[in-house]
Amino acid sequence: MAHWHNWSGRLKHKPGQLNHVYSEEQAAALALTCSNEDKTLRAVGGGHSHQDLVGNDDVIVDTLGLSGVISSDKAAQTAWVWAGSRIFSLGNALHQVGLALPNQGDIDQQSISGATATGTHGTGATLKNLSSRVVGTRLALADGSMINCSASENVELWQASRLHLGAFGIITQLQLALTPSYRLAEKTWQAPLSTLLEELDSYIANNRHCEFFWHPRTDTTQVKVINATDAPAQYPLGDEGQRQGWSYEVLPNHRPHKHTEMEYSVPAELGITCMAAIQKLLSDKFTNVKWPIEYRTLAQDDVWLSTAYERPTVTISVHQGIDEPDEDYYRACEEIFLAHGGKPHWGKANYLNGKEMAAQHPRWSDWWRVRDSVDPKGTFLNPYMHSIRP
Ligand SMILES: Cc1cc2nc3c(=O)[nH]c(=O)nc-3n(C[C@H](O)[C@H](O)[C@H](O)COP(=O)(O)OP(=O)(O)OC[C@H]3O[C@@H](n4cnc5c(N)ncnc54)[C@H](O)[C@@H]3O)c2cc1C
Repeated sequence: MAHWHNWSGRLKHKPGQLNHVYSEEQAAALALTCSNEDKTLRAVGGGHSHQDLVGNDDVIVDTLGLSGVISSDKAAQTAWVWAGSRIFSLGNALHQVGLALPNQGDIDQQSISGATATGTHGTGATLKNLSSRVVGTRLALADGSMINCSASENVELWQASRLHLGAFGIITQLQLALTPSYRLAEKTWQAPLSTLLEELDSYIANNRHCEFFWHPRTDTTQVKVINATDAPAQYPLGDEGQRQGWSYEVLPNHRPHKHTEMEYSVPAELGITCMAAIQKLLSDKFTNVKWPIEYRTLAQDDVWLSTAYERPTVTISVHQGIDEPDEDYYRACEEIFLAHGGKPHWGKANYLNGKEMAAQHPRWSDWWRVRDSVDPKGTFLNPYMHSIRP
């Protein structure tokens, strides 16, 4: 029996097998064997999800061996990459061919397939999540076949699997829509929350990236803005907040302190009101929470299960240490998020059931219909996915 745990160590499982794959042939053979033996199969990338997307008693397959840039087209601004590539390994490799991701999240330790599985995003009111960058996918299905999908081939499979939750098959390759390499310069400063909220719309509108962390029971926020620059990279890069360099050098940060996290996306116009309600909750009731609240923006997209589906979005994240109780706190935050039209991040804590998810996502039944069509036996559904299925 193997042991597997996620990044925080909060989610632990002893699957019957922990496999690794290094080729598409291995991925397809494993998928077929699991299907024939009626075993559940879930892939894992960087293991950074807080939600139990990977855990099951049968088989977990580590896909990090499928790594690297396969091909690129500078004129079309696209590249095919192996799905298990860690985001940090793609930055310089894509830069060598003059391309870059238009945005990245807070860290770059996730695999590209794991990040697109859950709609991972950074901050920037004009910048979409990573799932929206997927223009082509190649995956190993439960019947042992390999299939390609894109906007011109198996179109519904592509639309559904851009944000895939690991539920369609083992993704082996992704084609990403990229942008020419660009340099960024970042700036951070502290500001009182009350003043910042008055100026926030203007910071968000006037900077490529804008985010802030608020420290509970203080009036202090740490604000960060990042903008494109023609100035040369400055090495050594220095600490977060002072860097000037290529996008993949400036966007990711170190987040070494183990925590759990709940994040909700709310309509952009309700962001500040929702933030104020969370602030009040912490001041009135959860007076021992020390972890900061993060506020970011996200452009609307057309990815079926995206939390920014057809609406400009603000994301608000609440955190707790891994040894600290979090459920009462998160449930109280969730109530506030839901009252503001919030949708939970797929890779983070939430307490919603399938019926509640269905009410939030207009393409919910389409997503499941397409998923079921390529995996009718449910080989790629683990207990969490069964708990939310229609
Ligand atoms: C410290 C930290 C910082 C974070 N920062 C951000 C942030 O800034 N923005 C944000 O949006 N999120 C953030 N997250 C959440 C994180 O980006 C997501 O949970 C993401 O899905 C993790 O990627 P991963 O490679 O670790 O995937 P995993 O957690 O390993 O897997 C996620 C899903 O992808 C599936 N999967 C992975 N690879 C494959 C494959 N090859 N084929 C099929 N299915 C596959 C898994 O089955 C699972 O369903 C953060 C998490 C942590 C712990």
